[in-house]
Amino acid sequence: MSTTSASEKDLVLYEKQERIALVTMNRPRYRNAQNAAMTYALDQAFLRAINDDEVKVVVLGGAGEHFCAGHDIGTPERDIHRAFPRVATNLWPHEDKLGAENILVREQELYLGMCRRWREIPKPTVATVQGACIAGGLMLAWVCDLIIAADDAFFADPVVRMGIPGVEYFAHPYVMGPRQAREFLYLGERVDAKRALQLGMVNRVVARKDLARETLDVAARMAKMPRMGLYLAKKAINQAEDRMGLRDSMDAAFALHQLAHAHNTLSAPEQADSHLAGQGIKSMAEALRKTSDPAE
Ligand code: ZN
Repeated sequence: MSTTSASEKDLVLYEKQERIALVTMNRPRYRNAQNAAMTYALDQAFLRAINDDEVKVVVLGGAGEHFCAGHDIGTPERDIHRAFPRVATNLWPHEDKLGAENILVREQELYLGMCRRWREIPKPTVATVQGACIAGGLMLAWVCDLIIAADDAFFADPVVRMGIPGVEYFAHPYVMGPRQAREFLYLGERVDAKRALQLGMVNRVVARKDLARETLDVAARMAKMPRMGLYLAKKAINQAEDRMGLRDSMDAAFALHQLAHAHNTLSAPEQADSHLAGQGIKSMAEALRKTSDPAE
């Protein structure tokens, strides 16, 4: 089992400002790309906020110029083979498994499972998004109750280019409506903050320089509401989304997503590393770089 190295202690920052917990992804050098170490650190930070009675609202952000450029598929700290203490009981460890089993088990825990856990945090969560919010980054913003975007934020899920039908947490038709979700997926192009607001995917757009202040202002106003009122309102909306089919649709899409990984693996047998083949890694790294490069 892995132990946390000194450098991993700061992968996620946790700070408290009165009734607000500020949870900040802290891999700015890699545009906060999500590796497993950061995912488990996020989970710990959320648990801390849940267990602190003083905390009424949780804000999730990313350090540096970008919110999150997606899952870590190419940094030196990519850690897909590492074992971590698992949080779910619905599947077993992935690291010594082969083929489709490996990817299914890992993604069930790390992506779909974690996102569902975080969507059900019993306190309101606010994503504060600047710069890139790409692929895996979308999932982190989408699980939050509110999304406040800076005017430089941009959003995209480009994975159809790799033969994959969207990221693991398949909320696309619910966060923007089915018609727009088709375009978002079929083109895989960037949507800027203004367009994201029109789609109903974010709550408000503010100037980049005002993002932190506006986010804290909204969170502080929310924090004045009673804890039970907030919890029950959140639960009611989550239930409504599930009755609209969110949870079942996501399970069905996750099966298709795993089929895509298996297909990519079978189509590229020359790539012995099933993780790499399953992710269509070369083309995905290229596509994500293209989509998330703000200099483009
Ligand atoms: Zn996947």
